Amino acid sequence: MRRGRRPRWMIKIALERMEILLQRAEEEFALHPERSHRYVEMARKIATKYNLKMPSSWRGRFCRNCNKFLKPGSNCQLRLKDSMVNIKCMECGEIMRKPYMKEKKAKRRSKIESRTFQEGTDA
Ligand SMILES: [Zn+2]
Repeated sequence: MRRGRRPRWMIKIALERMEILLQRAEEEFALHPERSHRYVEMARKIATKYNLKMPSSWRGRFCRNCNKFLKPGSNCQLRLKDSMVNIKCMECGEIMRKPYMKEKKAKRRSKIESRTFQEGTDA
């Protein structure tokens, strides 16, 4: 098969399929973790085939080393360090880092919101 750029519609379908697989992985994890790992593998295969990145919303939800689906408190550990989250895969021991600025920003926003709310009720 010819290598190189794929048509846009094909990439769109590939992204959708990856999203579905990862959602399934999340749903199935409680009962069938081995299925979740399989879904991650399938999603990663699609990513490689179409030269795509895994959806950013799922970053840190699977191990880049052993491709296992990761569920905090179940088979991975989260540690906050500075503005990074260290994610340790309990399956193979791999440690991944990801910035948690998004979460931080959201927290700051909710703090500001609750403060303005309190000021309003106090008066
Ligand atoms: Zn791992």
